Amino acid sequence: MEFLTKVWAKEATNAADVEAPPAAAQNKTNSPASDASASQETTESSDGTSPKDWGYDLYPERKGETFKPKWTKVLFGMEGQENIDRFKCEQNVYWCVKNGPLVKLMMGALKSSGCPIDLRRHISCEVCDPTVTGGYDPKLNQIVVCQNMAKNKSMVHGVLTHEMIHMFDYCNNDMDFRNVDHLACTEIRAANLAHCSFLSAMFQGDASPFNVKQAHQNCVKTKALASVLAVRNISKEDAIAAVERVFPKCYADLEPIGRRIRRNSTDQQKAYMEGPMYGYDVY
Ligand SMILES: [Zn+2]
Repeated sequence: MEFLTKVWAKEATNAADVEAPPAAAQNKTNSPASDASASQETTESSDGTSPKDWGYDLYPERKGETFKPKWTKVLFGMEGQENIDRFKCEQNVYWCVKNGPLVKLMMGALKSSGCPIDLRRHISCEVCDPTVTGGYDPKLNQIVVCQNMAKNKSMVHGVLTHEMIHMFDYCNNDMDFRNVDHLACTEIRAANLAHCSFLSAMFQGDASPFNVKQAHQNCVKTKALASVLAVRNISKEDAIAAVERVFPKCYADLEPIGRRIRRNSTDQQKAYMEGPMYGYDVY
C-alpha cells in the first residue's frame, strides 16, 4: 500500500493521463431558463455534497455550458478549434468502431448484454477539463471522449475501451457509481483490461515473471486510484482503502475481454475472434 502511494505521487504529475467518469453529471438538457435553479443545484445537492465531489465539473458541456474560447488563446491558436476538433474526434470514434478490435469486442459484448451502442446517442465528443481524456456519464449512459485531449486514433481507442468497460459494468453488474467500492471496482477492471495491459510490455524487458505480475498489479492500483480521486472528493486514504478492499475480486474479473492484452501481440485480435465463443455478438 505504501508503494502505491509513492507511485501515485509520481503519476499525479502526469495529469493528462488521468481519466474519470463524470458520475452524477448534470443533465445536459438544462435550459437557460432553469439556470438559476441549476446553479443553485450545482452548489449543493440534496445529500449535502458539492458537485465537485462527483466529478462532473471536469465536463463543462455536461452542465449545458457551451465551450467559449478565450480571445487571447484564439489569438495564439490555442483555442477556437472546437468544431474542427469535434469533427476529427468523431472521425476517430468512427474509425475505432469499424477497426479497433477491443472496441468492436466491447460493442458486441454490450449488445449481447442488452445495452447496444448507438453512436449518436451514446458517444459524445466534447471539450473537457485538460486533466481528463474521457469519461462515462451513468446518468445519461453516455461516453464522453475529450476532443481537446484524446487527439489520435490510439488515444480514442484507449478511451473508448476503458469507458465501455464502465458501460458494461453499469449494464451488467447493477452498479451504483456513488458507492466508492463499486467505483473502485469498475476502475480496477478498466485499468486492468485497457490502460495497464497496453503498458505492460514496458514492464517486461528483463524483469522476472514475478516482477511483471507485481508491476502490472501496481499499474492497475495506481491508475484506478487516480481515477477514483479524480471524481470523488474523498481522502487518498479512503480511496486506497476502497481499491485494496475490492482489488482481489475485481482484478480477477476479466469479463468481457477474457484476457489481459499484451502490447505488440495478437491478443487484441484473439480476444475479438473468441468473442462469439462467449456468446458476444461481435460486429
Ligand atoms: Zn474510468
